[in-house]
Amino acid sequence: MKKRHLFGALALAGILNLGTTAAQAQEFTHQDTIRGSITPERAWWDLTFYDLNIKVNPQDSSLQGSNTIRYKVLKPEQRMQVDLQSPMRIERVTQNDKELKVEQEGNAWYVQLQEPQKIGEEKEIKVFYSGKPQVSKNPPWSGGMTWQRDSKGNPFVATSCQGDGASLWWPCKDHMYDEPDSMRISVRVPKGLTDVSNGRLEKVQEHADGSKTFSWFVANPINNYGVNVNIADYVHFSDKYKGEKGELDLNYYVLPVNLEKAKKQFKQVNQMLEAFEYWFGPYPFYEDGYKLVEVPYLGMEHQSSVTYGNGYQNGYRGSDLSGTGWGKKFDFIIVHESGHEWFANNITYKDIADMWIHESFTNYSESLFLDYHYGTTAANEYIIGLRKIIQNDTPIIGKYDVNNQGSGDMYPKGANMLHNLRQIVNNDEKWRSILRGLNKEFYHQTVTTKQIEDYLSQQVGRNLNPVFDQYLRDIRIPKLEYKLMTGNKLQYRWTNAVANFDMPVRVYLNGKEQWLEPTTKWQELKNIKPYTKLQVDDNFYVNLSQVPKA
Ligand SMILES: [Zn+2]
Repeated sequence: MKKRHLFGALALAGILNLGTTAAQAQEFTHQDTIRGSITPERAWWDLTFYDLNIKVNPQDSSLQGSNTIRYKVLKPEQRMQVDLQSPMRIERVTQNDKELKVEQEGNAWYVQLQEPQKIGEEKEIKVFYSGKPQVSKNPPWSGGMTWQRDSKGNPFVATSCQGDGASLWWPCKDHMYDEPDSMRISVRVPKGLTDVSNGRLEKVQEHADGSKTFSWFVANPINNYGVNVNIADYVHFSDKYKGEKGELDLNYYVLPVNLEKAKKQFKQVNQMLEAFEYWFGPYPFYEDGYKLVEVPYLGMEHQSSVTYGNGYQNGYRGSDLSGTGWGKKFDFIIVHESGHEWFANNITYKDIADMWIHESFTNYSESLFLDYHYGTTAANEYIIGLRKIIQNDTPIIGKYDVNNQGSGDMYPKGANMLHNLRQIVNNDEKWRSILRGLNKEFYHQTVTTKQIEDYLSQQVGRNLNPVFDQYLRDIRIPKLEYKLMTGNKLQYRWTNAVANFDMPVRVYLNGKEQWLEPTTKWQELKNIKPYTKLQVDDNFYVNLSQVPKA
């Protein structure tokens, strides 16, 4: 089990998914390896389609059903790993209606296929399962089901499972590297209730007992934790957005009691889309539409059905994470969770160790939302304000192949690193084209941090490896050291940094802008004025210190 905690120390408790803590020694088990690596029993087959079909029973907190897993054979192997976490159980697995032998090892179930598996062939297995899935202790930070009631006593049910894994509630290949090309999610719910899942509502089937099956179809690749089920006595309203790829359908599902508030608050979706399409390119899932769905927890970036529980107010549960006032200009959950449609759902990490690709860019996207609607000063102030919640406890990048995420600094510190890059590029049109380029280059893909780092270096036009090593793999904040020397000379270098750290930095000499290219070796600037005062541009997340001359 992974150990988790929240940012208890801050008044902003519960803000961010902080993952594992620095103080806790990390011990990984064989189960962590099975869960977190591309095992041989996973590597030989490529997911093409999931057909998940379940019945949800709020009375006894159970669910049952099946998942048909369609795949393409890459290597002619016959042992297949399917994941499903206890206490859920696989009842049987079939291929072409023939029951197969299944061996359980913890949360992994090994299916022994009988038919030959020929390279290039597309085949499917059907997995029947049931049980009472783990209940989330603290959604969305701890995974599982949330079984609640609305104010009228109707069931109000939701899933959330980033990190802990989708296999908490349905059998799948629970590793992020592989996504199906499309998916159907059919959910049968008791009379009077509605299920909202990802993609578009394909059909609703009514049964003799008054229960209904809602079938949703996702036309695009989708990551495991993005798949979700939300059940309530929902009311629905809709809107359209004229965007870069044409008309985008916006569908909203909320509790009846909140309908009027939602109609007002959700207007921010249009503002969000306008800002993010400008900075990142077209919304990545026009075919599936965009939805906001009210849930009994804060919210989550479920693909094309972003879940919402921020209480129809601006800020993060009404507060401003940056402490600058700018955070109250927008609804944190609408903006942040939707930002993930570009960074998390469009561009998805292969290994959760690289979760910065989701959270750094998305935390940063909040500043670009402000930039678009309120200007660059607002954006800068917001990002700088977030620095007070940076811990510098452990590196942002976690451990690979064991389902381990790095420090919660992946939010504010990662965002500040990207803000550094914006300064280095020093040309907002170019910076925007790089951000849009990322979403085009890695459209609907799962990626490694190396791919993202290399792309950024290439596009920015300099080797940014030392910058990434510094901010993603080290906990020190680089310090710009300088000395004022006799003879009107200034000496400067980076310290408290990784070997060979180099990063250009904008400084002000007596208030006049000047770019320096410091390295970890002393360099010199000649002909400066006597009694020069040096300041670093606040937009750089670095420290400054003056060394008295010898
Ligand atoms: Zn996030």
